[in-house]
Amino acid sequence: MDCKSCNSATCTAKNRQPEESAEEFAARQRLTRRMCGIKHKILVLSGKGGVGKSTVAVNVAASLAQQGFTVGLLDVDVHGPSIPTMLHLTGAGVTQSEEGIEPVMAGPNLKVISVAFFLEHPEQAVIWRGPMKMAVIKQFLGEVNWGELDYLIIDSPPGTGDEPLSVCQLIDDMEGCIMVTTPQEVASADVRRSITFCNQLAVPVLGVIENMSGFRCPKCGEVVNIFSAGGGKKLAEEMKVPFLGTIPIEPEIAGSGDNGKPYVYAFAASPTAQLFENIVAPLIAVSDQE
Ligand code: ADP
Repeated sequence: MDCKSCNSATCTAKNRQPEESAEEFAARQRLTRRMCGIKHKILVLSGKGGVGKSTVAVNVAASLAQQGFTVGLLDVDVHGPSIPTMLHLTGAGVTQSEEGIEPVMAGPNLKVISVAFFLEHPEQAVIWRGPMKMAVIKQFLGEVNWGELDYLIIDSPPGTGDEPLSVCQLIDDMEGCIMVTTPQEVASADVRRSITFCNQLAVPVLGVIENMSGFRCPKCGEVVNIFSAGGGKKLAEEMKVPFLGTIPIEPEIAGSGDNGKPYVYAFAASPTAQLFENIVAPLIAVSDQE
């Protein structure tokens, strides 16, 4: 795949911009070429931390991989990368090949890149300002040998800061964002702000997921609503975006995150794994409409 053999009339990577150095132009073309090999790029967002955004990102990616798609999972949470722990990849390092930085494999068709793979030790604090974060994300998109992917799932830090902004600015054809919230957070201005952020950047909102929605009793399997239910759906209706579904609190979800085996792999036959599959189904349906 290279820009010379591509006959897209609209691609902005064809021509060098007046303010661009030859090196910058080459890097931009490399990034565009890499992104051309990825069919669907999806960003996972949340208004606040601790609502299960990374858990959802991991399980959505794993569920797609389980269904036979080739998937990349990019963790751009530079200050709190948790994806390696959730996939039992702590301490993994990346290698460099002629094709670029090689992602770490978390199964036959799940490729992973996280800031954590580049840190000398896990407790290292990352102190980067906006432009530095943008530069690192640019490298993750342009210099990593993602190859041909069906999906790239991107886990960003909570809120609408530099990382999600950089992702949306660097990827021209974002499929859209998934918004993760909890019943307690659903009424907060942060969730609405995340949706407004997408609207302002003209990135489609693929839908809202209400995580930690009730508690599934390990004894009888029934979901008990600890907090008021239905807020995510109501919010989605109000903001005129799709509602993708709910995931209850389940001790095994937390356990899977700590043990490094995605819940949808470890408990593939459970009702909650089915809920994850139902959440992913419309994303595949949207993709298939193209
Ligand atoms: P965020 O990325 O929004 O900060 P995480 O995905 O890291 O949140 O989740 C925070 C914690 O909550 C983790 O320990 C995770 O295992 C746990 N968790 C997330 N969703 C659930 C759930 N539905 N049931 C039980 N524990 C959950």
